[in-house]
Amino acid sequence: MGKQAMGTPGTALRYRSDNKIYRLQTGQTPIVRSPLYSEYGLDNFPNGMNAVVAVISYTGYDMDDAMILNKSAHERGFETKFIFGKAYQRIGIRQDWLRIVDMDGLPTIGQLVRDGDAVFIYRGSEDAYIDEVRLLGSEGGDSKPMQEISIKYRIPRPPNIGDKFSSRHGQKGVCSQKWPSIDMPFTESGMQPDIIINPHAFPSRMTIGMFVESLAGKSGALHGIAQDSTPFRFDEENTAADYFGHQLKVAGYNYHGNEPMYSGITGEELHADIYIGVVYYQRLRHMVNDKYQVRTTGKISELTHQPIKGRKKGGGIRVGEMERDSLLAHGGAFLLQDRLFNCSDYTQTWVCRACGSFLSTMPSVRGSSFGSMVRCRRCADGLGGRFVGGKDTTVVAVPYVLKYLDVELSAMGIAMKFNISP
Ligand SMILES: [Zn+2]
Repeated sequence: MGKQAMGTPGTALRYRSDNKIYRLQTGQTPIVRSPLYSEYGLDNFPNGMNAVVAVISYTGYDMDDAMILNKSAHERGFETKFIFGKAYQRIGIRQDWLRIVDMDGLPTIGQLVRDGDAVFIYRGSEDAYIDEVRLLGSEGGDSKPMQEISIKYRIPRPPNIGDKFSSRHGQKGVCSQKWPSIDMPFTESGMQPDIIINPHAFPSRMTIGMFVESLAGKSGALHGIAQDSTPFRFDEENTAADYFGHQLKVAGYNYHGNEPMYSGITGEELHADIYIGVVYYQRLRHMVNDKYQVRTTGKISELTHQPIKGRKKGGGIRVGEMERDSLLAHGGAFLLQDRLFNCSDYTQTWVCRACGSFLSTMPSVRGSSFGSMVRCRRCADGLGGRFVGGKDTTVVAVPYVLKYLDVELSAMGIAMKFNISP
């Protein structure tokens, strides 16, 4: 997942002020790696962590590419990362800034800032910390006055439910639960997995490499060696599973990488031995914090009166044809009506019962002798400058786009007619 993984994006991060940088705070060197890894000096740019991974279907929270994270591992810094951003501010001090600024009028390094704080224009729902303050322009006696500061801030992003992780074999998944350490299954030596993934992730994708990495990583960790991941080193007679299995056996572990495990909840031994090993996991930069959408009511489109789309604008998520089909199939008629109509472009409008037209209805002047306030001009007769008849109108609830469609069609010379009953 190279391009999506968060790692160490440069050597001079301390001196840079990019608009946005993701950085993994607790990177590790992979146990299983290619020979060129050291030659390229990739240890200077770690982009993941060695995780103890158990392959079990445990509690159902690892269904469908979801994964359970060990809460204690996460609290120890597992896959923690920061986002760096920057803002500019013209120099000048106000009294109400003094909570956050130093004696020199500049923000204090390490100061916590929240949305709307005055020191610089920080906008965001997340808390940030001032990381660096730079003076732009000259402080000396030359012609150019110092007039701007650049502020670098950092936002901590510990792993969260909904964040995305991946091994280097493309086995990506989303954290579904930060499971307390005491409820995680454990091996006979007391080891607990950092990550639990579901065995159903393997048969269809056939990522055998991940099984091998799990074995190699485990034996590498036990013997304190970095394993060579060069492909085609093994063949049918001399398999990777045998090679690493032997190393595991020497270290006193099961040849195949399985281990008996005990339920973290009941303490009973699980019926099957569990495949558990060490796999290098990367944190991908798709996080719920950047993606979640919430809407009760909000902005609507001027043209259709339907909710607008877009996360930033507080828009809705489209209920499309497939969603409609699902709701129909499940018999969710009320919900369907609610989503597609009541919560969307519900409108009440006048319609003529006689000719079935939306467009020919027209409000009459208040206080006139007609009973109905709205008459149909098409059905009414002009009589001495006054309209007579056309009073058979009523109010119906229709989607606003239906009226819009009516107008568009009439512009093409097509009239829509509605049969109103009762
Ligand atoms: Zn009419």
